Amino acid sequence: MDEDLAPEELEIRTVQPYQARKAYLCPGCNQDIAEGMGHLVVVPRAAPELRRHWHHPCWSHRRRRRPGPG
Ligand SMILES: [Zn+2]
Repeated sequence: MDEDLAPEELEIRTVQPYQARKAYLCPGCNQDIAEGMGHLVVVPRAAPELRRHWHHPCWSHRRRRRPGPG
């Protein structure tokens, strides 16, 4: 899956609430990310068209191998 790519192969962009002008589907939980909700955009550097929108906690918890932020 896309999210298995190494961190250096992904660009993580933070979307502020005012920038979230439409709803997206989060692949982590298959729930909507509501319009106006701050979230993350994960962009594979090799395939930017495959970017995904994630809730912050869903991205943080997609794998439990790397504890803590950053
Ligand atoms: Zn989610």
